[in-house]
Amino acid sequence: MNIEQTVSTAVASLALGNVFTFDDLVRAVQDRRQRTLRVVELADLGDHDGICAVWLITESEDLVLHAHSDSVLHRQQFVLHEFAHMLLGHGQGDECSVEDVLLPDIPAHTRGRLLARQDLDSDREIAAESVADRLAASIRGSALAESRYLEIFG
Ligand SMILES: [Zn+2]
Repeated sequence: MNIEQTVSTAVASLALGNVFTFDDLVRAVQDRRQRTLRVVELADLGDHDGICAVWLITESEDLVLHAHSDSVLHRQQFVLHEFAHMLLGHGQGDECSVEDVLLPDIPAHTRGRLLARQDLDSDREIAAESVADRLAASIRGSALAESRYLEIFG
């Protein structure tokens, strides 16, 4: 399967249609994985080191930690990128347990496998970024639909 097909299949499997909200997406990912999904901003996780977000699998939940960004869209893209890895079935088996992670001082061995943006050359990263872009477009679509609704009925 080529990347384009992989991406389309992952997005279609959400069965959310073309337009949905961020909250709809979180619910769909939780349903898919049968686990709680929590998104947490780490003020101390800088985007120096190329680290924008990381997905941690704990016993009971999926945790997406992301760097602070003044741009909501930027921040959303970090998080959607991690969701994309989940939807694509990446990261199984090689995740650290959260007990190893002393937040906010993320140890070196974790740092080494953080999902850094400079890894965009691998097929996995390209697919994840592409899924994230599609998700972002659908969420943007829902924001537009809502503002049109308000224009007419507000
Ligand atoms: Zn990635």
